[in-house]
Amino acid sequence: MKKVLEVKDLSVSFHTYGGEVQAVRGVSFDLYEGETLAIVGESGSGKSVTAQSIMQLIAQPPGEYKSGSIILDGEDLLKKTEAEMQHIRGQEIGMVFQDPMTSLNPTMTIGKQIAEGLIKHQKLSRQEAYERAIELLHLVGIPNPEKRIKQYPHEFSGGMRQRAMIAIALSCNPKILIADEPTTALDVTIQAQILDLLKRLQKEMNTAIIIITHDLGVVANIADRVAVMYGGKIVETGEVDDIFYHPKHPYTWGLLASMPKLNEIKEELQSIPGTPPDLKAPPKGCPFVTRCPYAMKVCDEHMPPYTNVRNKQQTACWLLDERAPKVEPPAHIMAGGLTNDE
Ligand code: SF4
Repeated sequence: MKKVLEVKDLSVSFHTYGGEVQAVRGVSFDLYEGETLAIVGESGSGKSVTAQSIMQLIAQPPGEYKSGSIILDGEDLLKKTEAEMQHIRGQEIGMVFQDPMTSLNPTMTIGKQIAEGLIKHQKLSRQEAYERAIELLHLVGIPNPEKRIKQYPHEFSGGMRQRAMIAIALSCNPKILIADEPTTALDVTIQAQILDLLKRLQKEMNTAIIIITHDLGVVANIADRVAVMYGGKIVETGEVDDIFYHPKHPYTWGLLASMPKLNEIKEELQSIPGTPPDLKAPPKGCPFVTRCPYAMKVCDEHMPPYTNVRNKQQTACWLLDERAPKVEPPAHIMAGGLTNDE
């Protein structure tokens, strides 16, 4: 598969009254044509800042790119001007946010909002753009698109608004679609419909998708690969089955334990005790050290290196060092049907 995006050693900070918040700390990953990469983690893990950095949506100041590169078509997006980025946003990379009401313009019809990008980026005439807008609304499953393009966002339901956002994001056939918690504000049935829509459109258009989510149910439904973020770092990455069935990082174990399972609907979910690290003074070693029941002295002092576990799975944990004690995943993860046969 062809690589479409390469994020290398990305570090992003925010300057606040309380000090410098190191929100993203040396994150690297690749994205391939037609695949879906899920970036998963708790709030404050750095996943949304990573996504916004790709689109260069971090206001500088207070934000600052401290290091790294984001390579698209051989060029570093971090070196682009705002004018160049305006062309790349929409044309090369589309974005769908959690709440379409904040990204849709309430004073403009849906049709006009779709047509604008087509006129600007694809140089279509007004009539061609409106015809394409109707096709796009039809493509994302909005009934009566001829009537709907004349309506305003408040006349659409939440699910319909998200469909309209997806139509806008995909209107210029971008190589990459970034979806930041696209289903969090929706009820479960609509959530499933939106995920199915994204999967169908991806197949039809061969778009690479980065989905940002805290919800492992969404990950299981849509992702090919997963990057688990914690404390501004990727702590484990791999193909979706490896992350669900052969997780190696104690934080991934904690996330999986907090995921509802079909056969355990009455069981209380396990949450991870403790709070995420203060990124104004992040730990010198492993970011999970204060919450990890298996923490050792080395974890406090040194950041664990990535260990190649299986296929494309890489895990940053000292437990994978050959000198570390052997630790099995907790029983409640195994009980969920996961195995750890390494
Ligand atoms: Fe726990 Fe240490 Fe592994 Fe971090 S490196 S997850 S603290 S065992």
